[in-house]
Amino acid sequence: MQNKKLENPLNQFFTEDFPKQYQEPPALQSKMEPRPDCGEESYKGNEQLIGRKALITGGDSGIGRAAAIAYAREGADIVLNYLPEEESDAQEVKQLIEQAGRKAILIPGDLSDEAFCKQLVDQAHKELGGLDILALIAGKQQAVEDILELSTEQLRQTFEINVFSLFWVIKAALPYLPEGSSIITTSSVQGYNPSANLLDYASTKFAINGFSRGLAKQLAPKGIRVNVVAPGPIWTPLQISGGQPSEAIPTFGQDTPLQRAGQPVELSDIYVFLASTKSSYVTAQIYGITGGTELA
Ligand code: NAD
Ligand code: MG
Repeated sequence: MQNKKLENPLNQFFTEDFPKQYQEPPALQSKMEPRPDCGEESYKGNEQLIGRKALITGGDSGIGRAAAIAYAREGADIVLNYLPEEESDAQEVKQLIEQAGRKAILIPGDLSDEAFCKQLVDQAHKELGGLDILALIAGKQQAVEDILELSTEQLRQTFEINVFSLFWVIKAALPYLPEGSSIITTSSVQGYNPSANLLDYASTKFAINGFSRGLAKQLAPKGIRVNVVAPGPIWTPLQISGGQPSEAIPTFGQDTPLQRAGQPVELSDIYVFLASTKSSYVTAQIYGITGGTELA
């Protein structure tokens, strides 16, 4: 994101109360009001990822879409994974990638299925003719107020999608990843300061922090870096499809020091930096983009 004019961060992007809204998960970004800003109009590339080959999970919407647009405009070819119900959102991203002159390969499917994770990676590698960026952004978040109401099924799914899929995708990808490759996982402020109603989700984000930092040490001798992005409240489909209770939607993000929700485009640069050779001395780190909430 290049914003040359000096602006007060409190006043940038959307600062009003959000209209109350709910969609069944996985929600469509195209039906949100207002639509999240993923850099469709604003992100300008600077040749930081020329010739790179990226697999992006959750690439149809929200933070994953912001990463996809940025990676394409920086010169990377891209495989997007998402759920079949999200095809229309994914088609919008495909168009944007192609407008940037890059390859966009769509591989929908469920990351909670180990066999699919392997197939996704094999196909991505084959169709891109290589693979050197894994931007693992997909996630499941469903708020449940009382542990007595939190089902084993939800607990399992949240762990399978948020944590197990990282093991499965990365294990399948490692034989393909050349030296210099970059793996980026996606945590949350919930991985530091868990909310009372996000027990399963927050636990997965703690797990992602530990997994990613340990893996970074394991892969450093191979010349592969692993880092984590930890967002605060960002305006995306995840939140209006049960990620928050619907009464929390209007003021979503307003309790941060910067007093508003973030937009996905505000994460574009960190996903680009961590994928690019500019972060050559950075591994095993967790970067917060949180509106001021501390990661501690
Ligand atoms: P989003 O809804 O746009 O993205 C989540 C994506 O996960 C979906 O688009 C979907 O394609 C994918 N997904 C979910 N279940 C899947 C499954 N079974 N198989 C394959 N794909 C599946 O929302 P987002 O907020 O951009 O979420 C991206 C990441 O950011 C998630 O890991 C989320 O936990 C994290 N995050 C978001 C916020 C926030 O406030 N929005 C805060 C902290 C962390
Ligand atoms: Mg989506």
